Amino acid sequence: MNVILMGPPGAGKGTQSELIKKEYSIPHISTGDMFREAVSNGTELGNEAKKYMDEGNLVPDEITIGIVKERLSQPDCQKGFMLDGFPRTKIQAEALDEALKDMNVNIQSVINFSVPKEILLERLPARVTCKDCKSVFNKKFNPSSSGNKCEKCGEELIERDDDKGETVNKRLEVYLEQTNPVLDYYEKQGILYNLDGNRSTEEVFADIQNILGSSK
Ligand code: ADP
Ligand code: ZN
Repeated sequence: MNVILMGPPGAGKGTQSELIKKEYSIPHISTGDMFREAVSNGTELGNEAKKYMDEGNLVPDEITIGIVKERLSQPDCQKGFMLDGFPRTKIQAEALDEALKDMNVNIQSVINFSVPKEILLERLPARVTCKDCKSVFNKKFNPSSSGNKCEKCGEELIERDDDKGETVNKRLEVYLEQTNPVLDYYEKQGILYNLDGNRSTEEVFADIQNILGSSK
């Protein structure tokens, strides 16, 4: 099963991707996570990506397409994969289609999470991520049962620099301008599924299971 998760920053893609990964046993490919990992390792890619991420801008297509192609060529992607945060521009979507053609595979479903802007603006500054296992919580809407520590592994929960201040607005703006057109691209292919992301984690996941079908 090959799936794409789409939706603005803070729409809940990260949270749902953990559930999907468990239920359907497919790798979770998040370009945002890959860039953050590169930043924390201080690699050349990380230093380059950081310049854009700090401003709330997209990392250039050429770089992003390169890392996704490389990731998709790994053996664990042969049984399927879930893309989260990619493609984010029409050029990325077209490059992905090319790459998939070479691999002889298709995307079955593109799941788009809609959440009103006012809600995203409340969610993003309250979002925290586990330093170790990367589980995502929200201090306001979905707190960890262990307070300031991760309820799964006990590690520290940290805020993302780009979830604060002006960067949040910039990211939402960039999403509307550059990523919304990608939705039309998939709508035309007849594989776009829209869901209301402004509901509980369980309700949203139930919809996803309806779209993707049984894992058995
Ligand atoms: P969110 O969906 O919450 O904005 P991500 O973790 O997906 O966050 O992305 C964080 C940042 O990483 C983005 O603001 C952007 O700078 C960069 N990034 C992630 N995915 C892409 C992509 N497909 N193309 C370009 N830049 C990306
Ligand atoms: Zn954890």
